[in-house]
Formats: sequence, structure tokens, C-alpha cells
Amino acid sequence: MTTWADETDVIVAGSGGGLAGAYTAAREGLSVMVVEASDEFGGTTAYSGGGGMWFPCNPVLRRAGSDDTLDAAFAYFHAVVGDRTPVELQRAYVYGGSELIAYLEEDDHFEFDVLPWPDYYGRLPHARLDGLRHTVMKPLAAKRLGELAQRIRGPLDRERLGAEAPNYLIGGRALIGRLLSAITTYPHAALHLNSPLVELITADDGVVGAVVEEDGRRRAIRARAGVLLAAGGFENNPALRQRFGVPGDARDTMGAPGNLGLALEAGLAAGAAIDLMDQAWWSPGFTHPDGRSAFSLWFTGGIFVNQDGKRFVNESGPYDRIGKAIIDQIACGAMTLPFWMVYDDREGLVPPVKATNVSMVEAERYVEAGLWHTADTLPELASKIGVNAENLVSTVKRFNEFVAAGTDEDFGRGDEAYDRAFSGGRSPMVSIEVAPYHAAKFGLSDLGTKGGLVTDSHARVLDTNGNPIDGLYAAGNTMAAVSGTAYPGGGNPIGASMLFSHLAALDMATKGTRG
Ligand SMILES: Cc1cc2nc3c(=O)[nH]c(=O)nc-3n(C[C@H](O)[C@H](O)[C@H](O)COP(=O)(O)OP(=O)(O)OC[C@H]3O[C@@H](n4cnc5c(N)ncnc54)[C@H](O)[C@@H]3O)c2cc1C
Repeated sequence: MTTWADETDVIVAGSGGGLAGAYTAAREGLSVMVVEASDEFGGTTAYSGGGGMWFPCNPVLRRAGSDDTLDAAFAYFHAVVGDRTPVELQRAYVYGGSELIAYLEEDDHFEFDVLPWPDYYGRLPHARLDGLRHTVMKPLAAKRLGELAQRIRGPLDRERLGAEAPNYLIGGRALIGRLLSAITTYPHAALHLNSPLVELITADDGVVGAVVEEDGRRRAIRARAGVLLAAGGFENNPALRQRFGVPGDARDTMGAPGNLGLALEAGLAAGAAIDLMDQAWWSPGFTHPDGRSAFSLWFTGGIFVNQDGKRFVNESGPYDRIGKAIIDQIACGAMTLPFWMVYDDREGLVPPVKATNVSMVEAERYVEAGLWHTADTLPELASKIGVNAENLVSTVKRFNEFVAAGTDEDFGRGDEAYDRAFSGGRSPMVSIEVAPYHAAKFGLSDLGTKGGLVTDSHARVLDTNGNPIDGLYAAGNTMAAVSGTAYPGGGNPIGASMLFSHLAALDMATKGTRG
């Protein structure tokens, strides 16, 4: 017999996208306890500068004039993901996002903006090239949240570089701030920091509660309706990364520090099935003087080369696709990390990377750390960075010919709408011909792992026989991603985390409490 230290209808483990589930549960009349492992709310969701959600045809986009249809969006999503994940799960996501935005808009705490962001597979049927499937929450003044504003994770520059926290919450922080301020209006919702869920408690009728460690004390909390695991991935746990064969290094992940896979392990112990365990949301990693390679995008020049001095990817493509190309290079033996961005002097020494997500520090620090190199000629540069000199010269020559012709015959750089999104619609290819030449070091980064507990389209966790485990739900990066091995569009990770958290709470509200 378990001695319960406390009880509630719903336990939500994790305060990133999971807060959408906590909010829904509270609004639907269920008591809810959010348990957050770390000392701040928001997880990786709060690190996102945009906090974008891929929710096609939602009311915000429709008001902005989008002529998209849910069927077209589904056709695109399915064309990207294929049958790697269940079609009903894909449908639940694509068709459900719009309803979630409508649900949130009924509450004054939530206000949204359109942030156009082209889909990541622009050649596939029904890809949205104008970016009108992507929505963000409006910024929020920190003072509107009072003390709670000090308890929201991020921005990355505050945590990694000691920068001041801004007075305005934007992107993912605004999303978390708005959810927190809405949740705290419900007296039957409680928020707990420093409280990791460490175990699930099961009985004949499924999961009936959880063990939560609060300030070092283990407490059994009864959950009358269910437990939602929205505790991120396991990207910060080197042992789990190794066990499941996730490429890259925990040092280079962008995932929030509390994402150690504890909830995943609790789900496994309760008999859950898992899938996609070696997968993450990938990105090229711009290497900083602290040795960590960070998610980076918006390259306005330069090319990436491997040890052979050869290009291997469309450098202006979506970050996850570049990450996959890096992994393929490693797998086929063409690359051991690091790899290099080679660029010329037209913008000076600082590499043409406009969004490093963690801000660049002084240029000298990169030079001193051996991360940036300069030489008067390409062969000299090649010898400094240890790549094949002859190949580097011919790679740059060939690339410059593509620039002159306006077509990248090798990798199609600039062919898709996303490639041109950061260059005002112009070609993102810039020739490399102004000496001296420079090289900047890159690694492989990720935004979090995406393999996890297998769920159905109500976010109910399934056991290894494919049956729902009563009372157990998963969402976000704790759940085996609906997008499978792909990243169809900006806003998929946060969108799916919020949506499946919301659906889990609706399912619990429909079923009501047990016992
Ligand atoms: C710079 C940056 C920008 C990004 N931009 C976007 C974007 O615009 N759109 C998009 O869709 N995605 C974006 N991503 C990716 C996205 O932020 C993450 O994949 C997503 O937020 C993960 O959401 P989640 O709810 O699964 O986990 P998280 O937001 O990471 O939340 C998980 C929380 O659970 C807590 N936790 C862990 N274990 C436990 C436990 N056992 N018990 C209790 N709590 C626990 C963690 O401490 C954490 O707070 C971006 C990522 C980065 C780094």
C-alpha cells in the first residue's frame, strides 16, 4: 500500500510545452500539479528566440490571409515523414494545432503573431513557401509576471554569458510566461520547482501516481486522472545518448540542463514501448571559446568543408538537414568532427553567421582558442585547419563558378525558399575571392533528442503490446516524435509538445478521475 504524501488529479512532469497540458487540465476543471526538475520553468522551450509553433491554418494565420488548407498541410507533412510514424498520430498533430490556437485565444492571456518561416522541404508537394504555417506568441513585459518572471529559464546569453535578463519576454520565454500567468489564475493548479519525477507508481488500473523528489525528499503523489510526462529528451545524459546511439555530444546540445531522461526511464520501468531513440533535432554547431558548439543558422556567406577540403551540403538549407548531412559524412568516414566554414574577408574576420543563438564574444577569444584561422592564400589556410589543400582550392573555384552562373550544381544552394529566407529572397551564394581567407570551426549540435515513449493520438503511452497504459501520457521530446526522423517545418518541436500535452489533458478531462 502506498502512503500518499499528496494528491491531485493530474501530475505534469516538465514545464516546457507541458505547461499547455497543465493549463488545459486546470481550465477543464482538474486539479493539477506541475513538477519541474530544475530551478527554473520553461526548459528548452524558453531558450527559443522565436518560440515558433507549426500549426497550419490556425486562426492567426487565417486572419493574416493564408489560403492554406489542413488537407494540404497534412499532405506535405505526410510526404516528409512518410510512414515512419502512425498516420493517425500525424493527423492528430496537423489537424489539432489550429484548434489549440483557437482554444488559447479564448483566454486573454494569449496573443499571437505571424512569423513567416518557409517549410523545410520546399520541393515536396504542398510545402508552404511563404512560411504561413508558423505562429509565435506576442512578447510580454516581465513586470506583468511579477516574481515569476525571475523563475523563467533563459535567455541563453544570460545562462551562458552572464548577460542581464531583459525586461521583455520574447519567443519561447513569452510563450512560457503567458502559460504561467494563465495557469496561476487557477487556484487548483500548483507549480513546483526543484521537483523531479523519479518514478511512476502503478497499480492494477495503470499509473496511479508518481514519486517526486522535492528538495531531496521523495514523496508519493497520487494522480487521480493521470500523469503527463513532458520532461524533454535525454540530450544532457551522456550515458543514455551512448546507450541509444545518439550521434553528437551532450556538451554540444542546446537542451535545458534538466533534460536527463529520468521521466523516460520511469516510463520504461512502467512497461512503455519506445521508438526513434537515436534521433534528435539536428543543427550545425558554431563552436564558441567555451568549447561548446551551438545551434546556428542564417549563414550569409561561406561554405562548409570536410577534411578532404570538399563541400558536403547546401549550407543555406534547414539546420536539421545540414545536421543529417554531417552525420552521414561521419558515418561514411569522410569526416571526423570538427568541420570548417571557409569564407573570405568581405565582412572581415567575423564569420558570416547571423544567428548563433548564443551570442559571439570578442573575436580574439576565438582566435586564441584556435577556433578561427586566417591566411593569405587558400593552400595556407588549408594547412592551418588540416584539410586537403589541393581540394580546397578546387572546391572554392568550383563554388565561385556556381555563384557566377547562379546555380549550385552540386547541392542546390538557393533552390528552395528556406535557403533564401535570410537573404531577402536573393541567392544566398557569395563568392570566396577577397583575401585574406578565414576558417571557423564547427561541430554537430542538437536542439534535443526526439526519441521516446510511443503514444497514440490522445498522447496515451502504449506498452510493448501496443495497448495504452492507463493513466500515463507523454508529449514533446519525452514522446517518440510525430515527425519521425524528419523536421518538416520550424515550430514542429514546440508545436508537438504543446499539442500533445493539450490532447493528454483533454483526454484526462473526458475520462474523469479514478477512485
Ligand atoms: C535556440 C533554440 C531555438 C529553438 N526554436 C524553436 C522554435 O522556434 N520552434 C520549435 O518548435 N522548436 C524550437 N526549438 C526546439 C525546442 O525548443 C525544443 O525541442 C522543445 O522546446 C522541447 O520541448 P519539451 O516540452 O519537450 O521540453 P523542454 O522545453 O525542454 O521542457 C522539459 C522540462 O522538463 C524538465 N524535466 C526533465 N526531467 C524531469 C523530470 N524527471 N521531472 C520533472 N521535470 C523534468 C526539464 O528541466 C525541462 O524544464 C529551439 C531550440 C533552441 C535551443
